[in-house]
Amino acid sequence: MAVKCSRCGKPAVAEIRYTRSRLCREHLIEFIERRFRKGNEEFKVFKNIRRIVAAVSGGKDSLAMLYLLHRFSSVYGYEIIGLTIDLGIDRGKEYSTKSVEAAVESFKKLDIEYVVVDLSREYGYTIDFIRDRGRRLGIRRPVCSVCGITKRYIMNRFALELGADAVATGHNLNDLAQFIFTNMYGGHIDELIKMYPKLPGGNGFTAKIKPVFMLYEKETTLYSILNNIRFHHDTCPHLENGIGGRFQTAIREKLEQLEEEFPGFMLNYVLTYMRRIRPLMVSGSSMGGDGDGDSGEKISVGRCRICGMPSLRDVCAFCSIRSRVSLKVSETISRSRGD
Ligand SMILES: [Zn+2]
Ligand SMILES: [Zn+2]
Repeated sequence: MAVKCSRCGKPAVAEIRYTRSRLCREHLIEFIERRFRKGNEEFKVFKNIRRIVAAVSGGKDSLAMLYLLHRFSSVYGYEIIGLTIDLGIDRGKEYSTKSVEAAVESFKKLDIEYVVVDLSREYGYTIDFIRDRGRRLGIRRPVCSVCGITKRYIMNRFALELGADAVATGHNLNDLAQFIFTNMYGGHIDELIKMYPKLPGGNGFTAKIKPVFMLYEKETTLYSILNNIRFHHDTCPHLENGIGGRFQTAIREKLEQLEEEFPGFMLNYVLTYMRRIRPLMVSGSSMGGDGDGDSGEKISVGRCRICGMPSLRDVCAFCSIRSRVSLKVSETISRSRGD
């Protein structure tokens, strides 16, 4: 006999252990949407936000975020512009091509204005190229770090150009629990402080928001499936040992085991950090604000000599990567042309 929904008695599609309930399709969607709203309201994520650039990779988390943002846009009074980046990751799997396709399909389906940034065409390199040649060009950062710098730079730059008040990314609760844990372990206070649903903008930075921070990975997956969202399932071919390698992967697995044993563990862990611990850290730090988007980023930064974007150094990390590849790329292009 089928398991019944705790609310209405229809067949249940999933069990939510931390609330001790089993829910049918309709009640599960309602439950996830309510948690989305509750979390964003508690941390005033949409306060003073009128235009959001939704950064969509084509995976389940960012697409669930896009649908949720879209569903409540009139409630909170913001408009959405979609952004997806073709990072040039192929490795025989057409990884980037499939990711961009999934993102664009949803932008069209929801009738959302969007931009596709082609890294190779716009900036002259691909992530695969960095993986293959980066070391020889003197880029010492791991490929995932270059990819992160690239994505953050493009998100911020396009959000500013499009006149947006915030960039939204699809980090879920499992991601945040992992990041909080590892940054606390490493004592990376500046990174730890960024683990928050909303970071104010200012000084050449757009505000950053994480609207699905309250949803478990399982919930963003279910929400995508229940709404027939076609997402790209593959993990990045460069992520051989998970994000940040074996250590980060192990932490994530242990946190997930704790969740299994004590349902609600990750939610409590993340919320305790955000409600009780982070406020104490912010008051003793250079960055912060109360997250309402009014205070601005308090670090005083200079400008990159090449691109004019905010940077702590003379040349920003993005431009220094570009300057190392640009020579090599132009050589390769002229060689392939035969001149
Ligand atoms: Zn029901
Ligand atoms: Zn720059």
